[in-house]
Parts: sequence; structure tokens; C-alpha cells
Amino acid sequence: MQTGHWLKELGFSDKLVIISDPTVKSLYGDALRQSLISEGFNANVLEVPEGEEQKSLQTASRLYNELSDFYAERTTPILALGGGVIGDLSGFVAATYLRGMPLVQMPTTLLAQVDSSIGGKVAVNHGHLKNKIGAFYQPSLVVSDIAALRSLSIGELSNGLAEAIKSAVVWDREFFAYLEENLEKIKLKEAGFIPAPTDKALEEVVFRSAKIKAEIVEKDERDSGLRNILNYGHTIGHAIETVSGFEVGHGEAIAIGMLAAARISNRMGIVDKGELMRLKSVVERTGLPIRMPGLKVEKIIQTIRHDKKILQGKTRFVLPRAIGDVFITDEVSPSLIESVLVDLNEET
Ligand code: NAD
Ligand code: MG
Repeated sequence: MQTGHWLKELGFSDKLVIISDPTVKSLYGDALRQSLISEGFNANVLEVPEGEEQKSLQTASRLYNELSDFYAERTTPILALGGGVIGDLSGFVAATYLRGMPLVQMPTTLLAQVDSSIGGKVAVNHGHLKNKIGAFYQPSLVVSDIAALRSLSIGELSNGLAEAIKSAVVWDREFFAYLEENLEKIKLKEAGFIPAPTDKALEEVVFRSAKIKAEIVEKDERDSGLRNILNYGHTIGHAIETVSGFEVGHGEAIAIGMLAAARISNRMGIVDKGELMRLKSVVERTGLPIRMPGLKVEKIIQTIRHDKKILQGKTRFVLPRAIGDVFITDEVSPSLIESVLVDLNEET
């Protein structure tokens, strides 16, 4: 582990705090703490139960108390060791306690490595409003160890792969071609997906996705324009998640959302069929769904309309012109959305 070395190079205090959940703590957190202690750090682990509901002001408040008990100072780094929940919550705490402590993201899910640990959005939920209280707060360091992905479930891996495919479609045609070429080396096998610690292809996916996100965020850190392209697949995807009562996972939902958006673009005469088929094939080979799991189209449309109210009356779509090139539009007709969703529902 080189983390200790990097922390010393960044000049943070020897006292540090690791925030993690019970699963990740027992898999990796205790070992990380031991190795940091052996390098002379005074490392303490703060544990947060698992689950999205922990992204709350209440849990943040408990962590503030624990930081205070530990006499944490403004130079005490917080190491967020876990998935996106731990990353977002710890980041929020790091951004706010003492007006900001150094933050080190140590993502252990593929989703967190390719997406949530990069870009500086940190937040807690408020009631059922997701990510409503937060900040833009960049980490000083992101440490992604792909060896940690070996203990993930297939569902968690496919969540991350869906976001990696998204990054390729919105920004990097060459990375998409890389995925097409190498998917079999990283794809989820029915029997379980166990990348070797030296799995080059998986490392490449994490590296390239993180780089794409960093490049986009660098151009629009505060999400006032370009950064919106990272929502490709998410307009319909969020509605699918909601209507399914979160039975459909985030990655699965955005896989369908990405295909739907590409079909919309094709029906508008923008993206050609060949590109659409390439996307469909990659999604399918990844083990993600290419059809809607029997949800009522009507309800999905209603949910999109409801989101539209929240977004000042506009349903914003990110549509591909080609793989690697997308644009943002508010001009998609409801009847076209409906027709594409009906196709995705009924096709076999
Ligand atoms: P998660 O953090 O809930 O982790 C999923 C589960 O995996 C947890 O039970 C965790 O204990 C377990 N886990 C983590 N690492 C493991 C490992 N290596 N081996 C075995 N189990 C492991 O889920 P997630 O998908 O990582 O993150 C979802 C969250 O990320 C959501 O709250 C979402 O809002 C947020 N998010 C944030 C951003 C951002 O830009 N900040 C972007 C995307 C998503
Ligand atoms: Mg997402």
C-alpha cells in the first residue's frame, strides 16, 4: 500500500480518520489501518452502517461528534474507504467539519472508482430528496485499488460498467472501441466475476473512465453546462428506477435509458442505426438489460413529467450524435419518448 507514502507527500498530519462501513472495514479497512499505523500514523476508523439511508444529516452529525472526540483538526485527513455512499457522506463531512478537512477518496466499488469518487460532488439526502444538501469539494487524492473489486457482487460490478459505457459514449469513441475489443476480459460471468489482481483490462476501464470524468469536470466543475452530459441515460433511467420501486438497479436502469436515448436520437434522424447497434451489443455483452422489465410506459412518462416540474419545466435529454459525441436538448416530444419506450418494452 502506497497510501501512507502519498499522505506524507501531501503533508497532512499524522493523525487521520478512516470512514468505512462494516463490510468494507472487515475486508480492507482493518488492514489499511494496521499498515498506516505501522508507518507511524495515528489512524482511527469511524464505522457507518451500510445503506443509502446513511447519507443523512443525522449520520453526519454523529460523525462530527466522533471527530470532535478524536480531536480532529483542520489538517487531519479523512479517508473515505467504501462505495459511493461512504464517499458522498464522508466527503460531505470533510467539506463541512471545521470548514473543510483534507479528503482522500478510497473507492472500493467499481461505480465509486469510475464515477462517484471523481468530480467533487459530495452530499447527503434530505428526506426522500437525493443529494439535496451538499457541496462541491474536491478530494486531495483518489486511491483506486482494483484488487478491492474482487469481492464485489455481479450487480455492483454491472452498476459500474454501465457508467463506464456511459463515459465512453459521451466523450471517447476510442474507449468505446476498447470496451468492444476487451469486454470478454472484464465481463460479468454467470459463475461470478473474479478479476485477477493484475487484470489489465479492468484497470484500463477504471483509469480511462476516471480520466474522462476528470476531463469533463475540469471544464465545468459547478455543473452549469458541459457536465450535464454525464447524465446520459439518466433521464429515462431515473424514471425506470423509481417506477420499479428500485427493484431495477441503477446500472440496469441507465443501460435501458442509454439505449432509449440513442433510439430517440435515431428516430430524430441524428444518430445512425449502426452506432445504435454497437451500443446495444456492448450493453448486452456486459450482461446489462436491453429491454424494459415489463414496466408501465405510462408510469414512466408520468415520472419523467414529475421530474420535469422539479427541473423548471424542462425534460432534458442527452442524445448521441455518434458514439463519443453527444448533445443536450429540451426538445424531445413526449410522443417520441413514449413510442421508443413501447418499442423497448415489447421487442424480444
Ligand atoms: P454503496 O456505497 O452503497 O456500496 C454498495 C455495497 O457494496 C455496500 O453494501 C458496501 O458495503 C459494499 N461494498 C463496497 N465495496 C465493496 C467491496 N470491495 N467488496 C464487497 N462489498 C463492497 O453503493 P455504490 O454503488 O458504490 O454507490 C452508490 C452511491 O453513490 C449513491 O448514494 C449515489 O448517489 C452515489 N453517487 C455519487 C456520485 C457523485 O458524483 N458524488 C456519482 C454517482 C453515484
Ligand atoms: Mg449514475
